[in-house]
Amino acid sequence: MEGSKLVYTPLDEIDEIYTSLRQGFSSGKLKSVAYRKIQILQVAYLLQDNIQRFKDALAADLGRPSLESSFLELNAVLGDTKVVYDRVDKWAKPERPPFSLNFAAMRPVIRKEPKGVVLIISPFNYPIFLTIGPLVGAIAAGNTVVIKPSELSPAVSGLFAELVPKYLDPDVARVVNGAIPETTKLLEYPWDHILYTGNGRVAKIVCAAAAKHLSPVTLELGGKSPVIIDPGCDLKTAAKRILWGKVVNAGQTCVAPDYILVPRHFQDKLVDALKEVHDEFYPKGSSVSPDFSRIVSTSHFNRIKRLLDSTQGTVAIGGDTDESKKFIAPTVVKDVQEGDALMSEELFGPVLPIVPVDSVDDAIAYVNRHDHPLALYVFSQDAAFKAKVFDNTQSGAAIANEVVIYIGADGLPFGGIGPSGSGYHTGKYSFDLFTHFRSSMDSPSWVDVFLGNRFPPYTAKKEGI
Ligand code: NAD
Repeated sequence: MEGSKLVYTPLDEIDEIYTSLRQGFSSGKLKSVAYRKIQILQVAYLLQDNIQRFKDALAADLGRPSLESSFLELNAVLGDTKVVYDRVDKWAKPERPPFSLNFAAMRPVIRKEPKGVVLIISPFNYPIFLTIGPLVGAIAAGNTVVIKPSELSPAVSGLFAELVPKYLDPDVARVVNGAIPETTKLLEYPWDHILYTGNGRVAKIVCAAAAKHLSPVTLELGGKSPVIIDPGCDLKTAAKRILWGKVVNAGQTCVAPDYILVPRHFQDKLVDALKEVHDEFYPKGSSVSPDFSRIVSTSHFNRIKRLLDSTQGTVAIGGDTDESKKFIAPTVVKDVQEGDALMSEELFGPVLPIVPVDSVDDAIAYVNRHDHPLALYVFSQDAAFKAKVFDNTQSGAAIANEVVIYIGADGLPFGGIGPSGSGYHTGKYSFDLFTHFRSSMDSPSWVDVFLGNRFPPYTAKKEGI
């Protein structure tokens, strides 16, 4: 699997793919929720039958340990698929709005209808969760779908190309593989919805292309997710969870803790706790540990290394790199200042800067001077501390004493705000994302006994003056 070469979809096939999915939508076969469920079940079989191949593919693309692939990716997406399968009948039913005496006779109802033909563009870092999860939501809502996985995770993307035609109806779901030319070509079409997961720079390209057709867009982006530390926190637990959130998938997690804001006097205690945890995680060192992933590409490796080489902070843990293996050690850098290279962009690697602050107010002000992050983490045992941080900041999610895994919590929406994204998915939120809520009513003639005054000629009497 190592170094697998991805076969890109020929550009001249994209038109046929789009057209056949448009026809697939028009055929009306997905009006049947039962048929949607058959396709969702097929997605589950696609994953379940090939679980080892997916783990191997993730290992080839990201050097990802099997446990991380099970826990964060395969179990999560299978769990989400089951939730959607079990509940789609209920979600798809027409919904009555709250009773209103004025309109009750007109039988108002919300019809749950598919949007049409949708495009899902996904990134390399959790390529199954972020492609298959939305695919299931789109099918559940009755849409036909093109998935465009990342060229940076070629082994997984190649598996999608092989397996989707075997398991799913080609009128319902197709795969387009490729890089910029293929995605650019896809973006020329009038999609009924586009879900883009990835970075903000490309999100602007997607939005500009979508604007030409007024295609609705949902953006799942990233940013620098801060951790705010209260010295009264359970330090050992905090250090363990924060470091795990940073090293899992070698930091290539959209909701990884990006940096820590800590009271100046508490910084060294925190570093000591992180060091202790680091040594527990990797007793023989991270470079020889089978439990630590690699950076996805040489260009991402070079980007992170350049930031690390430019920091004015002090490397307190790690710092080793090896380009030949795309290895960057779990690295903690202390005494980082606001203008530091490490604070200039989302790190998306296993490097954890610590920014000392004077107070929780300073920490809050720091967060508010920057883009709204995807997640904001607080470690504290003090309800007032947590409330103060949550009530005075904005972020996609506000999480206390935990990291990353909130994404898998059944019933919680997953999405950003502002530069970290717009719109939500997972579970019912995925169904809703790809559903048109179509207002409907059926008004009997006798209603005009009460509403006949609306018709001209208008008179003061009719207006009630
Ligand atoms: P990536 O390089 O895999 O790109 C994502 C997708 O964009 C790919 O399918 C790629 O082919 C496509 N693409 C790249 N350049 C393009 C262009 N010029 N025009 C059209 N399409 C193009 O992944 P990435 O963007 O580096 O992903 C990492 C980012 O995604 C991080 O910022 C991370 O935080 C964010 N992310 C967000 C979420 C979320 O759910 N909010 C999840 C994962 C990652």
